[in-house]
Amino acid sequence: MKNASSHRLKTSKTNSRAHQSDQEVRLRDLPYPYRSMLAICSDLDETPDRQVYWEIMRFLNTTETTAMGPGAGLNVGNSIYFDMPQDQFAYWNTDDTGRAMVQQLIRSGHIDCLHSYGDLATSRSHAERALDELTRHDCRLEVWMDHDVAPTNFDPGIMFGHGNESGHPAYHADLTLDYGIQYVWCGRVTSVLGQDIPPQFGGILKWNHPLSSGRTLLKEFSKQQLAKLGNKKYAMHGTNSTLRPTSLGDRRRVYEFLRCNPHWGGVSSCDQGRYLARVLSRDIVTRLVQRGGTCILYTHLGKIDNPDVPFDSETVAAFRLLASEQEAGNLLLTTTRRLLGYSRALRASRFSTVYRDNGLTIDIQTQETGSELGDVTVADLQGLTFYVPDAEVIHVTVNGREIASLNHNRPDETGRPSVSLPWPFLEFPDIGPSA
Ligand SMILES: [Zn+2]
Repeated sequence: MKNASSHRLKTSKTNSRAHQSDQEVRLRDLPYPYRSMLAICSDLDETPDRQVYWEIMRFLNTTETTAMGPGAGLNVGNSIYFDMPQDQFAYWNTDDTGRAMVQQLIRSGHIDCLHSYGDLATSRSHAERALDELTRHDCRLEVWMDHDVAPTNFDPGIMFGHGNESGHPAYHADLTLDYGIQYVWCGRVTSVLGQDIPPQFGGILKWNHPLSSGRTLLKEFSKQQLAKLGNKKYAMHGTNSTLRPTSLGDRRRVYEFLRCNPHWGGVSSCDQGRYLARVLSRDIVTRLVQRGGTCILYTHLGKIDNPDVPFDSETVAAFRLLASEQEAGNLLLTTTRRLLGYSRALRASRFSTVYRDNGLTIDIQTQETGSELGDVTVADLQGLTFYVPDAEVIHVTVNGREIASLNHNRPDETGRPSVSLPWPFLEFPDIGPSA
């Protein structure tokens, strides 16, 4: 061993007394070669039936022929809930074929979010029934999103929930966290495009829509100011972070996350499949790539006009733009769960560097100190990229165990070479329901 030092993953500052290598090994904020990361995070509200749900997922996640033409071949997740009025797609409303589809998509990682237990779930037993069913089918979900004013929502303020109110008939936080939920969304949406970077307001104000866009800008600016004054409701807007630690159910630790709707009309404007092209415009996608942040987009893909052809030509074009930006190495599309896991790995893990005779070893330690959430998983480290010294033999270990399949990357826009843990794309299951 010649020299060693350790860092929080997020920290690129080095100890001046440390070996030269420490100044040279630095974490890249995003997986190589991408400049930004986007998860389209859809609440499934008003999706009419399993056929529409399936066709949307097939278009987004495969390159097969669909009602909207060839699929976009991206990785885009979706959400599920259980007890809903009969006219909406939900787990208990659909048939066995629909339920088998949901189970497969959960196991493949394409359904990654539980969107409350539904409008009609009023008690703990509704939660128990849903969790028993998921567990019985080996379906693991780790992300929760509050829905409308569902009684099982966690947030008692904005989302009128009782899920975290011990003693209430709809209390279920203990059960749901035992099941495995680790990330929760409690209604917070920002108009600021790009998280995990300093907040930027450019692009919100539109001169052709001065009143509405001005109001949106003012609202967002006010949230920032309130956060600076210590307002808890807008604390996440202040830091502009995707994640913050919080607690639920007897103060057990979870992460809360922030979503974004960058439309000039405000956080609830055009948050639907039928208007998605207005949100994911070329201007917005270009700005996200330039800013270099992450984005968990707030939307409802199932709110559409034509069940036979769910997305119109403009929306299809917007997804094709995302596909070409990914192909160009600019924008990485992924599911909400994977973006959250990556963000958590960046903030919670640590790394140390050591020179040995066989080269330079970067060891990542995944133990999250002071957390009851358990360690960051190796899957959450996928895509993690370190700038490294030129002409060094590099090894990466995770808790001392060597990663065999390391990617060695050519210099990116900074001019620096890097190594990264592979980022495998999700594979869409080959089992769809026949429509
Ligand atoms: Zn909803």
